[in-house]
Amino acid sequence: MKKHNFSAGPCVLPQEVMQKASEAVLDFNGLGLSLIEISHRSKDFVAVMERARSLALQLLGLEGKGYQALFLQGGASTEFLMVAYNLMENKSGYINTGTWSDKAIKEAKLFGEVVEVASSKDKNFNYIPKGYHIPEGLDYLHMTSNNTIFGTQVMEFPQVDIPLICDMSSDIFSRQLDFSQFDLIYAGAQKNMGPAGTTLVVVKEDILGKVSRKIPSMLDYKVHIGKDSMFNTPSVFAVYVSMLTLEWLQELGGIAGIEEINDKKAQLLYSEVELNPLFTGFAQKEDRSHMNATFNLTDESLKDTFDAMWKEAGINGINGHRSVGGYRASMYNALSLESVGALVDVMSELERKA
Ligand SMILES: *Cc1c(COP(=O)(O)O)cnc(C)c1O
Repeated sequence: MKKHNFSAGPCVLPQEVMQKASEAVLDFNGLGLSLIEISHRSKDFVAVMERARSLALQLLGLEGKGYQALFLQGGASTEFLMVAYNLMENKSGYINTGTWSDKAIKEAKLFGEVVEVASSKDKNFNYIPKGYHIPEGLDYLHMTSNNTIFGTQVMEFPQVDIPLICDMSSDIFSRQLDFSQFDLIYAGAQKNMGPAGTTLVVVKEDILGKVSRKIPSMLDYKVHIGKDSMFNTPSVFAVYVSMLTLEWLQELGGIAGIEEINDKKAQLLYSEVELNPLFTGFAQKEDRSHMNATFNLTDESLKDTFDAMWKEAGINGINGHRSVGGYRASMYNALSLESVGALVDVMSELERKA
């Protein structure tokens, strides 16, 4: 039986996507060849790359608005340095909302002055800073929209007249936003879009080419754009599965369609955390993530009982990250409402038993 997979990443993907992907590994498009043994420059694969790129822009509502979509390698972690490499001349600003922002800051410091515009480190990142002052003279402002480890999510982004850069690794394609407020969005595929091995970068072309430093080809967004995301061999399997997942999403009604389901899942889980006296949420209420829900037991002595119960119910991947402890239920796009129902049932069963 397929488990209820709450893994934080790599994450659950739609079953029908898995089916199509496994068929393509054996025989792609009836070519008598596997998807992963043909040239990435063959017309069959070029069509995959082009479809994935255009679907990404289409779903985000960014088609024809001066943006380019790229499927790169090196994970979101490589974007931490590529963003600074390509965009920072002197000084940039970062909102520090957790481990991933922290890592992005560390890389950016290699290229210039980094201003930590706001931080929620004082409370172990259990909230999103608001109402901060953004200083003059920044080359860009960098944010993390969803904090995968701490379970917080930015609900409102600041209005700025400098490029706004966002790491959306764990909530891209999960909720409706005006994506044109961002100048560069990046996301490792393995949280909400596909398998590990590719990173989606969506960039507004006119912010590029403004820094004076020389940029190595592999780290230069303009080089990748010039080669239609085929400067070197792309991660063909990861791009293909991402394309299938984006097609699946489009059929569900795009981001608007999935957002409705994601809201229901979050509502169901958080209302149990609220009502059940045995659990307490980690993140502050107004900043709770609809993707990663973090919560703890109020009575730690129930841990072994609870752990045995959810495992018995076929649930996988809800152990919290070591920096928060407790539990983390990741409810990415492909996780069904039924799976959240299974977890909530176990939580209420614990209350009846205890
Ligand atoms: C997982 C994650 C990353 C790191 O992604 P890699 O692809 O493993 O480099 C960066 N940012 C956020 C928000 C994440 O959740």
